[in-house]
Amino acid sequence: MTGDYRVLLFYKYVTIENAEKFTQEHLNFCKNLGIKGRILVSEEGINGTLSGTVAQTDAYIAHMNEDARFNDILWKIDVAEEHAFKKMFVRYRPEIVTLQLEEDLNPNETTGNYLSPQEFKEAILDEDTVVIDARNDYEYDLGHFRGAVRPEIRNFRELPQWIRENKEKFMDKRVVTYCTGGIRCEKFSGWLVKEGFEDVGQLHGGIATYGKDPEVQGELWDGKMYVFDERIAVDINRKEHVVVGKDWFDGQPCERYVNCANPDCNRQILCSEENEYKYLRGCSHNCRIADRNRYVKEHDLSTQEVVSRLAAIGETLETDQSMS
Ligand SMILES: [Zn+2]
Repeated sequence: MTGDYRVLLFYKYVTIENAEKFTQEHLNFCKNLGIKGRILVSEEGINGTLSGTVAQTDAYIAHMNEDARFNDILWKIDVAEEHAFKKMFVRYRPEIVTLQLEEDLNPNETTGNYLSPQEFKEAILDEDTVVIDARNDYEYDLGHFRGAVRPEIRNFRELPQWIRENKEKFMDKRVVTYCTGGIRCEKFSGWLVKEGFEDVGQLHGGIATYGKDPEVQGELWDGKMYVFDERIAVDINRKEHVVVGKDWFDGQPCERYVNCANPDCNRQILCSEENEYKYLRGCSHNCRIADRNRYVKEHDLSTQEVVSRLAAIGETLETDQSMS
C-alpha cells in the first residue's frame, strides 16, 4: 500500500445559516481543491465522506478548522491507495441523515451519553447492557459487534418503529448504540432518551474510531465494516478477523458484496464469484431472468447459455408468478 491518498469521514451538528448558499460555495471549494466524495448540508449541519491526496485532505481539514462552526470536528481518517469516489457531490438536504422522526430533535440538546472506545468495549461485555446496531441490515450482515442486536429492518429510518414494537426487550436495560461514524446514533440515541429509556449510550466517533483506537484495536468486532464508497468494506478488528458474512445462495462464509443484476432490484447481496456465475448475479429467480439483467448484458450471454446455466440450478426462463 502506497498510502498517498486518504478517505475522510466526518459530521457536525451545528446551525448553518443560508445552507443552500453554503452548499454551492462548498461545492466550488471542493471542486477547486480536487477532492472527490459526497457531502450533505442542511440547516442542522454537515455530513461528509471524501477522498483525496494527503495534501488535498490536509487542505480540506485546515479550511474547515478556520471556520468556528467546524473547528472541533472529530475526523475519521483512513489511508488509501487511490480515490474512493468518482465525483464530487455537495447536496442540500432537509436532514444530514434521513431519519424523518415525527418530532425532529437537536442532538446538541438531546442525545445519548458519548462512550469512548474503551467504555463501549466494556458495555459489550456487560450482561445488563443491550448493544443495538443502528445501521441497515446489509451493513450488519457484513460485520458487527459481537452479540449486537440486529433490528429486523431494511433501512435505518424504520428503526424507531421497530424499537417501539420490541420495547419490552430493552426497557429495563442499559441501551448503547453504534453506527459507522457516529452520526446516525446522534439523533437515534436522542430519540431513545425522549422515548423514556433511562440509560442510553452511543459509541463516540462510531466503528471507524473504535477500529483505530490504540487500546481496543477493534476488538470484539467481527467481519468487515461496510463503507459508502468504492472500497465497500474495510477492516476494523486489528487483533483477529472472524468472517460473519454469508453467501446469499449457499450460506458459505463470504465478504464479497455485489448488486443484484436486475436494475429494478439492485439489492446488495454477498456472493462468491462462483455463485455469481451460476446464478447470473440475480438475487431471485425473477431477477435472474429479468430482461435487463446486467450480468447477461455484461457477459454478452446467448439465450442458450442463460438457459443452460438456469438448468444447472433447476430453473427455466419461465417467470415465477408466486414471486411477482
Ligand atoms: Zn434481485
